[in-house]
Amino acid sequence: MERTLSIIKPDAVAKNVVGKILTRFEDAGLRVATTKKIQLSQADAEAFYAVHKERGFFADLVSFMISGPVVVSVLEGENAMAKNRELMGATNPKDAVAGTIRADFADSIDANAVHGSDSLENAEIEINFFFAQREIF
Ligand code: ATP
Ligand code: MG
Repeated sequence: MERTLSIIKPDAVAKNVVGKILTRFEDAGLRVATTKKIQLSQADAEAFYAVHKERGFFADLVSFMISGPVVVSVLEGENAMAKNRELMGATNPKDAVAGTIRADFADSIDANAVHGSDSLENAEIEINFFFAQREIF
């Protein structure tokens, strides 16, 4: 059984669509193994997105991710990583297929509603970034 990390970003939390987004995961056969709402610090966001630190959008990405609380979850199921990425839709909501989370809830490439791990290796790193094993069921 695969596990992946999901973040419902500050824009979607502010829009009050946390339940709607978690329901999409459940309706697609993924199980929420754990979830919590947290406020990231600047250091947290910089560490989490460290792979992007040389990119021009890094400072904006970090300030967006700390602009309000986020909901982080571990999703579990068959092909959880790829299934979550499919449910999310393209990074830029303008390119996201109709019916995906980003097409329905995101406003821009910055405020794009959700994050999902992009490989099984990163999923494990990202899950351990936010959760202890004893918090995941
Ligand atoms: P995420 O990692 O948040 O799940 P992603 O994997 O679809 O999204 P990445 O390429 O990992 O996209 O980029 C991380 C985040 O950085 C994106 O979600 C987006 O908010 C922001 N981002 C990516 N590319 C750009 C860009 N060209 N301009 C502005 N922001 C961008
Ligand atoms: Mg990514």
